[in-house]
Amino acid sequence: EIILAIETSCDETAVAILKNGTELLANIVASQIESHKRFGGVVPEIASRHHVEAITVVIDEALEKAEMTMDDITAIAVTEGPGLVGALLVGVNAAKALAFAHDKPLVGVHHIAGHIYANRLVKEMNFPLLSLVVSGGHTELVYMKEHGDFEVIGETRDDAAGEAYDKVARALSLPYPGGPHIDRLAHEGKATLNLPRAWLESDSYDFSFSGLKSAVINVLHNAKQRGETIKDEDLAASFQESVVEVLVNKTVKAAKEYEVKQVLLAGGVAANKGLRKQLEESFKTIDCELIIPPLSLCTDNAAMIAAAGSIAYQKGKFATYELNANPGLSLES
Ligand code: ATP
Ligand code: MG
Ligand code: FE
Repeated sequence: EIILAIETSCDETAVAILKNGTELLANIVASQIESHKRFGGVVPEIASRHHVEAITVVIDEALEKAEMTMDDITAIAVTEGPGLVGALLVGVNAAKALAFAHDKPLVGVHHIAGHIYANRLVKEMNFPLLSLVVSGGHTELVYMKEHGDFEVIGETRDDAAGEAYDKVARALSLPYPGGPHIDRLAHEGKATLNLPRAWLESDSYDFSFSGLKSAVINVLHNAKQRGETIKDEDLAASFQESVVEVLVNKTVKAAKEYEVKQVLLAGGVAANKGLRKQLEESFKTIDCELIIPPLSLCTDNAAMIAAAGSIAYQKGKFATYELNANPGLSLES
């Protein structure tokens, strides 16, 4: 089967074409980052407008890349939530229009399920598995017994990991999105500062990053007041060490307790070099396979939506024309 997938939940207009669940024929991502940069974050109204302007062009570009027409497409998959409602609506309406005009089945996909299924483009999924989801809006440990079955065993109680990265970057006057900049700086510095690690209750797989973020801002503020300077590189390295240590520790612990066969890394922060390296190190000694997607499949894209959509299609989980954008869609429902 050939799935055409559309993703417009945030600030990338993305369309992908995927054959038989794993063969990627096109993966087009039109990023709006340049338009949002000067505001230091994503402006919802601007995002929707850009999606409207880009969506048809990106669909055509994907079909051209795959050397196909709509006749070759088996089904249309689209991100229905969570995300920005006005942004999601552009993708959902485009998908419905295509499905109606060309008489194709329609499949709704959860954005985070998409991030997890990016891994299916790397390797066949082997259950039970655990996924560490670290993105701009989510930080979760998700347990899966089988395809399409998601159990969130831990999640952030405040900021998401990516959000913490972006806020710390902002405090260091780095451009949006700050994650990649902190990552780069972290590798040039030394983790000399003693920053907190939020382990929470010993039996909890939840996360918390707002205390760490505040600690970084306090360190900067106090240094400024005392007329001292702290190297941005060292601050970035210390911050990253704290984030990575907690993420990796809890993931390893959960992987052992739940006796999973695989651990999948997912979401934009999965692009983080420090996190990738530390996870690889830790899983060397454990009898559990670690899968890490290539960088292009970590941040938002439609290939991952197609990968999740292909499973839903196989299971016959079709949406009707009543499909609507759902900004608060739950992964477990
Ligand atoms: P969600 O998926 O939760 O709805 P989103 O789609 O906005 O949120 P993603 O696109 O998955 O988020 O990820 C973007 C986030 O990833 C941003 O916060 C960005 O700073 C972060 N990020 C990207 N690359 C890196 C990196 N190398 N190190 C750390 N963070 C990174
Ligand atoms: Mg994004
Ligand atoms: Fe995302």
